[in-house]
Amino acid sequence: MTDDYRRRDAVTGECYAPMEDPGYTDIPTFMRAPRAETLEGLDIAFVGVPYDGAATERVGARQGPREIRNASSTLRATHHATGIDPFALTHVADAGDVRLPRAFDIMDTIEDIAGHYTKLQAAGVVPLSAGGDHSITYPILKGIAAERPLGMVQIDAHLDLWDVYLGSRYHHGSQFRRAIEDGLLDPARMVQIGLRGGQNTTEGWDYQREAGIRGIYIEEFRELGVAGAVAEARRVIGDGPTYVSFDIDAIDPAFAPGTGTPEIGGLTTFEAQMLLRGLRGLDLVGADLVEVAPPLDPSGVTALAGATLLYEMLCLLAEARATRSEG
Ligand code: MN
Ligand code: MN
Repeated sequence: MTDDYRRRDAVTGECYAPMEDPGYTDIPTFMRAPRAETLEGLDIAFVGVPYDGAATERVGARQGPREIRNASSTLRATHHATGIDPFALTHVADAGDVRLPRAFDIMDTIEDIAGHYTKLQAAGVVPLSAGGDHSITYPILKGIAAERPLGMVQIDAHLDLWDVYLGSRYHHGSQFRRAIEDGLLDPARMVQIGLRGGQNTTEGWDYQREAGIRGIYIEEFRELGVAGAVAEARRVIGDGPTYVSFDIDAIDPAFAPGTGTPEIGGLTTFEAQMLLRGLRGLDLVGADLVEVAPPLDPSGVTALAGATLLYEMLCLLAEARATRSEG
């Protein structure tokens, strides 16, 4: 950690490092990182997207970013297993939330979120985002994948490959279908891990097969184990630029109950951590964690899982970013 991570106390004038103070103190940015005043010199920006207007079932994920920031206050910089300190490798700051002054209109909101990420992309800043419902990944990709399609590691109970629902093509069950149609994702370099749960129609499963997306359903995950699933994901993704999108409902509701569309029989939090660590060395250009819904999470355990998994992804992004700067 460098001097960039220090704040000045307004009352005493003393300089201090919030990340080294107790977790219950001060104003909770993500991991108490500095609040970005500008994108200049920044490598990685934490961004909140407080929007759940495209959720199909129980809502509340709009309050995810704030609660994830709060839960992240107890996290520390250096990873116990990998030794990575993302704050030493790169300049990381909390860039606040995407402002959504047209949140009652889905199409306007997509435009607002996409515009925000277009600016981050133009500045060369890697985004680490907290949702929000999972629809937000579509405008994020519009902002950062406009020039070339990305590979995708999607960790999720659901395919999110539906078409129209409740009269709209845009909702948190269709965003990856829209992203593939727009050429933002390469379906041949896309892997979905943790899939499960019934469907009313086969349209998602049909689209997955027709588009050639590799789905690892939970039964296959149990057979392969974490190491086998990681090997298969790495085979599908290859060396190209890749995004990681983590829907908290991939985790079993025993560990993460606070989410809109829970499905039993999921990953443990430890399996999720090991899965993410298995993605080290990939050319990762962004990541998000979505669908943490604090009103459905009375103990706060889901927000803690979300914050900690975001930290795991921050370590991956920092290492990938540092590797690209060297090369
Ligand atoms: Mn899901
Ligand atoms: Mn999802």
